[in-house]
Amino acid sequence: MDKKKLLSSKIAIIGCGALGTHIANNMARAGVGRIIIVDRDFVEIDNLQRQILFDEEDAVKRIPKVMAAKKKLKKINSEIEIIPIIEDVNPSNIEDIIKDVDLVIDATDNLETRFLINDACIKNDIPWIYGAVIGTEGMSMNILPGKTACLRCLLQMPTSFLPTCETEGVLNTAVAIIASIESTEAIKILLNKKIREEAIYIDIWNSIWLPIKVEKKKDCIACGKREFEFLNGKVTQVKTLCGNAVQINPTKEILLKDLYNRLKEIVDVIDFNEYFLRFKINDYEFTVFKNGRTIIKGCNDEKLAKSLFSKYIGS
Ligand SMILES: [Zn+2]
Repeated sequence: MDKKKLLSSKIAIIGCGALGTHIANNMARAGVGRIIIVDRDFVEIDNLQRQILFDEEDAVKRIPKVMAAKKKLKKINSEIEIIPIIEDVNPSNIEDIIKDVDLVIDATDNLETRFLINDACIKNDIPWIYGAVIGTEGMSMNILPGKTACLRCLLQMPTSFLPTCETEGVLNTAVAIIASIESTEAIKILLNKKIREEAIYIDIWNSIWLPIKVEKKKDCIACGKREFEFLNGKVTQVKTLCGNAVQINPTKEILLKDLYNRLKEIVDVIDFNEYFLRFKINDYEFTVFKNGRTIIKGCNDEKLAKSLFSKYIGS
């Protein structure tokens, strides 16, 4: 394998959960020189069944996933650079995140973000690899803008569009297989080798392994008409997350230090560091990240979350 070529490559892994930790582990050990890892969340104990870069200590401290991943990956390979980004990937930041990478690897858990990656990569002519796992099943597909079919050629506007919270039912070996498939194709793309042309579907529990031929559609809204409806969409301000939590993006910038000084006497501060301020009010646990993005745990009502946010944090 061409080690120099890999060392001079730069990739972005979107998502640092089950697929993301496996893929980052593979890419770091293979010696990919610069690896951007983006994730919006922090480590929790029920992640450990399938998210291989984390341990119980990370979960107890509940540090951001990308920071925990960086710490582990630097111990695995000190020659490479890990670039952690604690962010929710959205239409306003994705092009900036992927602007000078050779390849984007999908390790997200929802179709909305995948369609956004598809739009951004086609628009900017960056190869990307789709990968998804639900239960014992998984899929992957290589997408080379202008050459192959894209994710919207494979999946039209889906009926099952809403993200699911079925992650607890994910078989960790199915994750490892899809992550290995994505990692293998990633290395082939970075080394300009011939890649797999078909999409692939597997069911690891039932030993099904099925290549799927995907035709490039002339009238595809993304790669044909180049109407990037996800990239041109608005940033969702309030979003319900898996695990009884709501995420809120602020409409204006919030400085953590100011927020800490304002709240420290009236709330129960759990943690305040360079990445986030975490505090508790009644049964609600707030994690406010550097840019003001906030996750409120213990709440699955978007209206209530919004009113809690404006009461304690701002608009
Ligand atoms: Zn297409």
